[in-house]
Amino acid sequence: MSEKTQKMLPIGSTIGIIGGGQLGRMLALSAAQLGMKTIIFCPDENSPAFDVTPNKIIAPYDDENALTKFANSCDIITFEFENLPAKSIKFLESISSVSPDSRALFISQDRIKEKEFLLRSDINIASFAPVNSIEDLEKAYLKIGPKAVLKTTRMGYDGKGQRIVSSLEMAKQAYEELKNSELVLEKFIPFEREISVVIARNKDGQVRDFEPAENIHENHILKTSTIPANIDNITAKRASRIAQQIVGSLNYVGVLGVEFFITSADPKSADQNPILLVNEIAPRVHNSGHWTQAGCITDQFEQHIRAICNWPLGDPTRYCDVVMENLIGDEIIDAHKNLKSGVQPHFYGKKQIREGRKMAHLNIVTK
Ligand code: AMP
Repeated sequence: MSEKTQKMLPIGSTIGIIGGGQLGRMLALSAAQLGMKTIIFCPDENSPAFDVTPNKIIAPYDDENALTKFANSCDIITFEFENLPAKSIKFLESISSVSPDSRALFISQDRIKEKEFLLRSDINIASFAPVNSIEDLEKAYLKIGPKAVLKTTRMGYDGKGQRIVSSLEMAKQAYEELKNSELVLEKFIPFEREISVVIARNKDGQVRDFEPAENIHENHILKTSTIPANIDNITAKRASRIAQQIVGSLNYVGVLGVEFFITSADPKSADQNPILLVNEIAPRVHNSGHWTQAGCITDQFEQHIRAICNWPLGDPTRYCDVVMENLIGDEIIDAHKNLKSGVQPHFYGKKQIREGRKMAHLNIVTK
């Protein structure tokens, strides 16, 4: 063993998962497959992850007594979502081992910090400007408009906290609606397609990424991920290299998702390769990686557990073509009655159907 080699968690260890949604549920199932125990921490007593493990703590994310009890019950802590209070993450890190670490979480919790990190890493992103006042907005719009997206810097997901604007008047209206939060104005990218790379790095620095998926959003919510993506090999390799660069420079441990916009090259440019811009990074298992459950020997959930336990990473080779389709809101009703062959269903067991709520996904093997 080299000096740098870190300890592997033994089979039978306990993994603490913060967040009880479908990602926590699928992480807990994979952990069980690997002979690990899990304990889920979530404030919502109806969390879908509670159905698959007997160990749970129901408490607010800032309850330090509950966090201490949680930390004392597990060998390592991980997350299914990144929007935890900073103080709680720091607190957990002071008493336990947390993967991914607070640096990755803090960067991805804040769109401006995330963009600054990407720029420092020489990674291309859409132009942007922070907006903290109406004067900032006017200046930013002059620089970035005419078509732009005003976003809250924090707590945005599934299109929440963002408005597309195409005039200063619209930008001001969007500002009025969102001004209680810190904001960022981003150039609107007329992308040809969106792709994402899901990548894993373990504590010893071993890195494996899955093939890029091509993503279609409806009403800002991911609807389908298709593999293979309709991109050439060079673009796929470039996306993979960028994802590798990100996990390397964060010294990251776990699975991370990187979302990209792809646009065609400027006709005047000498480089006629498609342009890749990073839209967002997510320090966790990612919805656009669900296809790996049907397409690969090791899926993203198992890969995350292996990475945080410092086990050797699994094989991310793809064995078939897959379309992953999210079932949103009412689409779950009767979904079990229409399952065709070649379809792998994942129903999340959520008790309440709500508009825009992800209720299930289907991995449809297409070839
Ligand atoms: P986000 O929350 O930043 O991941 O945005 C959700 C979705 O909104 C993206 O996956 C895109 O489909 C769309 N979107 C966000 N930002 C932009 C942008 N700057 N230009 C074009 N579309 C965007």
